Amino acid sequence: MAIVRKQCLEVVPPTPPPLPGPATKCRRKGLFMMNNGNSSVSTATRDMWDNLFDGGFRADVTITTDNGGIIYAHAALLAMASPVLRHILKQAKGSGRKRSISIPGVPHDAVRVFIRFLYSSCYEQEEMKELVLPLLVLSHAYVVPQLKRVCEQQLEDGLLTLENAIDVFQLSLLCDAPRLVLISHRMILRNFKAVSATEGWHVMKKSHPVLEKEILESMIYEENMRKEKIRESNERKIYLQLYDAMEALIHICRDGCRTIGPCDKDFKEDQEPCTYAACKGIELLVRHFAGCKLRVPGGCIHCKRMWQLLELHARLCADPSLCRVPLCMNFKEKMKKQGKKDEMRWKMLVKKILSTKRIGGAPFFVSSSSISL
Ligand SMILES: [Zn+2]
Ligand SMILES: [Zn+2]
Ligand SMILES: [Zn+2]
Repeated sequence: MAIVRKQCLEVVPPTPPPLPGPATKCRRKGLFMMNNGNSSVSTATRDMWDNLFDGGFRADVTITTDNGGIIYAHAALLAMASPVLRHILKQAKGSGRKRSISIPGVPHDAVRVFIRFLYSSCYEQEEMKELVLPLLVLSHAYVVPQLKRVCEQQLEDGLLTLENAIDVFQLSLLCDAPRLVLISHRMILRNFKAVSATEGWHVMKKSHPVLEKEILESMIYEENMRKEKIRESNERKIYLQLYDAMEALIHICRDGCRTIGPCDKDFKEDQEPCTYAACKGIELLVRHFAGCKLRVPGGCIHCKRMWQLLELHARLCADPSLCRVPLCMNFKEKMKKQGKKDEMRWKMLVKKILSTKRIGGAPFFVSSSSISL
C-alpha cells in the first residue's frame, strides 16, 4: 500500500497554487467573488451557494430591514459566517424553527448584498460602488473581516472620492480601519477647498464639531510642516554651498587652480577642467582679497566674506600643521580665547555643515562626531 501511494505521488504532479488577486469574475454575468487564495472552491459550488440564497430553499431566518424589507436566510450559515449574528440568533424569538432578526439603520439593498456575501463571497460591482459605505459598516458591526477587506480595498482603489471623503473618514474612524482613516484624511487635507464645499462636510460640521476642529488643526499642522520642510531644505542648500566652498578653498591653497595657487606650484597652460563646483567663486574672492585696499574685517563685503570663510575653515580644519590655507593657525590660536557662547555658535555651524555630507569631512576636516555641543 505504501509503495502504491509513493508511485502515485511520483506520477501525479501537485496542483499549482492559485495566483493571488483581489477579485475574479464569477461565471455569472456581473458578479465578482473574493479570491482570497482559496480558489479550490469551484464556480459551480459558489453558484450553488448563491442559488441557495436567491431561492431561499428551506430558509429558517427572516431578516427584516428598514422600510419593511424582508430577506430569507439560513440560520446555520449566518451563525457560521458571523459571530455577532450567531449571538443574535441564539437570542432571537420565533415560532418553531423559524426565527426572525432585524438589521436596521442601513438600506435594504445593503443588507441583501451583505447576506449574499456571507453565502458565496460574491458581489456585483455596481452594487459595491453604490453601497460600499453601509457594507463597510455591516462588515465591521457583524465581524466579517473578508468583506471589510474588500470594502477597504474598493475604497482605496477608486470608490473614495472628494464627494464621500468626509463620510469615509468618519466611518473608517468608527469602523477601526486605520489605513482608510489615513488615506481619506490625506485626501481631505490635499483637497480641502473642494471637500469643505461638500454636503458631507456641512453635515459633519453640525453633528461632529469636534472632528471638524481636529481636521482644521491638522491642516494647520500640515501647513507648518510643509513650511518647515522648505526652510530646512533651503538651510541645507546653504550649508552644502559652504561645504563646497571649504573644499574649494583647500583645493586652491593646496593644488592651485587656473590662475592662483601656492607659490611653489607650476601652472600648466593646459590644465584639466576643475571638478570643484565652488572653485571659480573662491578663486575670484581670493584674487580680490589679495588686491583689495580695504582688506580688513568689516571693510569691504567681499573681504568680510573672505575673512569669514577663512575663520570657518580653521574651525573645520583637522590638522593646521599640514594646512596651507592662510591664517589657519592664527584662527586656531584665536579660537582658544573665544567666549563660551561664540564657541557654541561656531560648533553648531560646523556640525550642520559637516552633516550635509554623509561621508564625514576626512581627511581635511574634523569629523562631525568629534564635535560636542
Ligand atoms: Zn579648481
Ligand atoms: Zn575687499
Ligand atoms: Zn587649515
